[in-house]
Amino acid sequence: MRSANNYTIKFISQILTGSLIGNPNLKIHSLSIDSRSLIIPNEALFFALQGERHDGHSHIIELYEKGVRAYVVSNKDSILPDEEFGDAAFILVDNTLTALQSLAQYHRNRFSYPVLGITGSNGKTIVKEWLYQLLCENYSVVRSPKSYNSQIGVPLSIWNMAEESNMAIIEAGISKPNEMQHLAKIIQPSIGLFTHLGDAHRENFASDKQKLEEKIKLFDSCNWIAYCVDEELVHQELYKKFGTEKRLVCWSRKENANLRILTEISENKRTKLKGIYYECIKEIEIPFTDKASIDNAILCWLFLLLLEVDDSEIKRRFSNLEPVAMRMEIKEGIGESTIINDYYNSDLGSLEIALNLMNQQKTDKKKTLILSDIYQTGYSPKKLYREVSKILKQKKVDRIIGIGEGIASQSELFSLEKSFYRTTDIFLSDLNRNEFKNEIILIKGSRSFHFERISNALQYKAHRTVLEVNLNAMVYNLNYFRSLLKPSTKIVVMVKAFSYGSGSTEIANLLQYHRVDYLAVAIADEGVELRNAGITIPIIVMNPEIHSFETIIEYQLEPEIYNISILQEFEKSLKRSGVKNYPIHIKLDTGMHRLGFMQHDLNDLILQLRKNDNFYIRSIFSHLAGADEEQHDIYTEKQIKSFISWCDIIRSNFNYPIDRHILNSAGIERFPDAQFEMVRLGIGLYGIGTFRHQENLMNVSSLKTSISQIKTISSSETIGYSRKGTLEKETAIGIIPIGYADGFNRRLSNGVGKVMINGKLCPIIGNICMDMSMVDLSDVSANEGDEVIIFGDDYPVTIISKQLDTISYEVLTTISRRVKRIYYQE
Ligand SMILES: *Cc1c(COP(=O)(O)O)cnc(C)c1O
Repeated sequence: MRSANNYTIKFISQILTGSLIGNPNLKIHSLSIDSRSLIIPNEALFFALQGERHDGHSHIIELYEKGVRAYVVSNKDSILPDEEFGDAAFILVDNTLTALQSLAQYHRNRFSYPVLGITGSNGKTIVKEWLYQLLCENYSVVRSPKSYNSQIGVPLSIWNMAEESNMAIIEAGISKPNEMQHLAKIIQPSIGLFTHLGDAHRENFASDKQKLEEKIKLFDSCNWIAYCVDEELVHQELYKKFGTEKRLVCWSRKENANLRILTEISENKRTKLKGIYYECIKEIEIPFTDKASIDNAILCWLFLLLLEVDDSEIKRRFSNLEPVAMRMEIKEGIGESTIINDYYNSDLGSLEIALNLMNQQKTDKKKTLILSDIYQTGYSPKKLYREVSKILKQKKVDRIIGIGEGIASQSELFSLEKSFYRTTDIFLSDLNRNEFKNEIILIKGSRSFHFERISNALQYKAHRTVLEVNLNAMVYNLNYFRSLLKPSTKIVVMVKAFSYGSGSTEIANLLQYHRVDYLAVAIADEGVELRNAGITIPIIVMNPEIHSFETIIEYQLEPEIYNISILQEFEKSLKRSGVKNYPIHIKLDTGMHRLGFMQHDLNDLILQLRKNDNFYIRSIFSHLAGADEEQHDIYTEKQIKSFISWCDIIRSNFNYPIDRHILNSAGIERFPDAQFEMVRLGIGLYGIGTFRHQENLMNVSSLKTSISQIKTISSSETIGYSRKGTLEKETAIGIIPIGYADGFNRRLSNGVGKVMINGKLCPIIGNICMDMSMVDLSDVSANEGDEVIIFGDDYPVTIISKQLDTISYEVLTTISRRVKRIYYQE
């Protein structure tokens, strides 16, 4: 995070009471905790944080080469020697995370303007973004970027506070006991907002009460606290703790409150709210109808009333409230381009995050940024766009298209391929779509520029049926599995079969970024595709075919070796290429009875391996046949036992370390004692629990389409091929553009399967066609164009696999390639 701050390293070392080694005069503007996402290295202070699996100290040399000079470290040995690196500076502290938090706390204390602290289980980010929308005309607001609300996110958010602002809105989130006091010390909010007590992270707390007690520690410094009194426990605890000493202000649907809601009427996608506030009737209308949005809006409303914002202003602003899209989407664009959409806010922090996402897509494509004016930074235009220009250089952007009076007036500051337009309309009317070829295009702008229109113009117009892939959920699942493993255990992620249907290079990029140790594909071509997309981590090929050996060697892929003849063939290829010491993975068949060496092959295998130096054994592995089912546990234990003893035999013949792995996703959950040095994660990453642990995982993929046409058909008629669809009464049917050629299995025809429309399940009528299907709309009110969910967060894919009497693996991997994958992340 960058800000207008100006500290010297010497001063920071005094704040942190650490010892300073090296150059005391370095000026620090930005804080960094992630070696992969630096903006301007020579102004950054890097905090080497230590996680269970990852240690920031290991990146110091690499960062020095990138130009970083200032570091906060806790490990003395990581300090670079003065003779060679005299221009660098190190602050040695006991704990780097505590140091980051102390610096933020110091920084916070420099400002006396109001700081809002928002907590609660859901809605924090929405309330924060809405308050920003509602208040940015009266105040110069700094706010947490995205959902930066953790032990690390909060200090980085606070760092954005600057002289030029006069209000800060900061969100605070916790997942475990004893976390909030740290955040409270850093934020020291003068005003507190409590959104909602839900069940997120309940598993880490003894009770809801304990979770709540923890959360409301945020409010110790507040002069007043706003919340909804209808959540009884919330009211009780707040009242018990603060009732006599603070101003508690609340809203309610049921009882007397500072803001009592009298009526709420939703129609036509809008909701009218009428309430009574200190004996005056107040009204607003918002463009939302769901309960969560209404609750969040009311909390914001209460806050604006407290600030005594003028009634007509309140009305106008709420009526224009816009959805908060926290997600960035990656889509296919025209001319082989990739489009990244992030057009709901624009500030320097979120520009940085979006550019990182762009750079995370390892491609050779030209990098184009379409950027609107940036608002509310507190900088003069010149200073602001000079800063932007620096960032673009740093992030190696090739071309900028600037849209807006502000950015256009500073065009001379940019020294890359550039063009500028005063408005989105002018850009669109000048747009030549042939101009975009083989680029990665980041579309980033403030809401008011309506960049969704640009995205529509540049998007590849395809099939309306899409598979949405939630990258945050995938990372969440990865971390869940990591939490079940020892920190030292390596993870191979199975990305075979187009990553279980979810995509190839996008997923591999994400996994590489999140530092998984290995990827595994089924065939060599899949590995080549990943290498061509810039994936550099090791890749195992599970099904190497003899004719692909040259390719395997050329692309540094590592084959699974499962019998003597394949070993010998591979040896020949290595000899021909003159390669020695090539890593291979030995597959043992301990009971799956698919590919693999049997016990009686072991002597021969060892003999062959010992007599040549073309390869070395990187790992030995085997596969469990029934890890997900309790009924097979004895068999599984037997497999594990054989595996251990066979590995012992092989390993005793070689004097180098050889990793062992046998667990798949279900195995990781059920047999963690058999994790050895490595595990192979598959279906779990994609959000499917193979055992009873589904609730620990987040859904990743959603298959969606939309209604093409609605018609009413009388009961004397039939629907579709072979006239299979019959009706009992006159019925509204919807035609949806998904058929068996998309992977929508034809056995779901005639009521076997259902789809979800506006929250209701609608049965399929008649036979599913190649490209289309028909659904019964009797029980739902729907319009043409409405979204149709084939499976997703609220309608899990496992329901479909049960209807088809198969497993979710098959449903996911048979979604055809013509269904576009759309990736999004917060
Ligand atoms: C596919 C595969 C896995 C992953 O299995 P999941 O059940 O998806 O976790 C692990 N090992 C091998 C050999 C595989 O082929």
